[in-house]
Amino acid sequence: MIKDAELAQYLQSIGARVAAAAQELDKQHVGPDSHFKEDNSWMFSTDEFHLVNSDQLNAFTTGGSHMYVYEQLMQTCRSEDELAAVVAHEFAHVYCRHVQKGMNRQMWSLGGAAALGAVGYAAGGKEHGMEYATYGLGLGVVAGQFLGMGYTRDDEAEADKFGFQFYCRAGWDPARFGDFFQQLIDKGYDKTPEWQSDHPTLSSRVQAARTRAEQLPADAASWRSPPIADAGKFAELKTRAAQVAQTTKKDTELGKAQLLLRSVPSCLLPVDSPGQKDAQEQLKAAYAASQAKKK
Ligand SMILES: [Zn+2]
Repeated sequence: MIKDAELAQYLQSIGARVAAAAQELDKQHVGPDSHFKEDNSWMFSTDEFHLVNSDQLNAFTTGGSHMYVYEQLMQTCRSEDELAAVVAHEFAHVYCRHVQKGMNRQMWSLGGAAALGAVGYAAGGKEHGMEYATYGLGLGVVAGQFLGMGYTRDDEAEADKFGFQFYCRAGWDPARFGDFFQQLIDKGYDKTPEWQSDHPTLSSRVQAARTRAEQLPADAASWRSPPIADAGKFAELKTRAAQVAQTTKKDTELGKAQLLLRSVPSCLLPVDSPGQKDAQEQLKAAYAASQAKKK
């Protein structure tokens, strides 16, 4: 986890703006059935947004009150709009309870909360070690459980849909919501046919964002508000993040944390990158070894 007051504060402000917009929509009863099926007040009050030191292009949420944005993602974003779009998308996974759904599908019998807690452990490092160690899980055990979890294509499309609404209501530029995905297309990430991918294609995500921007109600203009960091300030924050990341120490424990962070299934790319797959394989091997030891 990158510990820097200014960066933490910045990410937290973006997250708070997204969460406040989501809460407005909750009051208007806008959202899927999965959002309204149980108490949801916790979604808007305890959220913590963290920057983690990883060279993978990703962001993820544990589905509860924690969201992790990778430093590499911040470096890739060209503006606050792009970063806010990703945060809004991740928050929508919480809003729609997709993580719980994934847990029901894959991990119910294995104690999904513990596994997700350990992802938090990986991101949080030593400091939260005791907290998660009480779950009594080794890295390999954890890995075997959470790697099976991932969002479906429908989950991703739904997160884009509601993420877009949070993002616009929170004041960012509707025309820019698809910019991050467009950037990934420009970089050549959209080569996988949709049927081979767990995710909608990047081009269909950009197209959907464009259509949604065109269909906003007339009063949407009144939602706009300036970004928290303008272009100059955003560039400054990126430089700061890169500098702080460089000074983060790399001991063995962090090496494991890095591996786990790298392996988290992608929320952004159409398919997991070679680095992600490699990390997943390493974790699966660790899991197999931990199982063999038990016997
Ligand atoms: Zn997603």
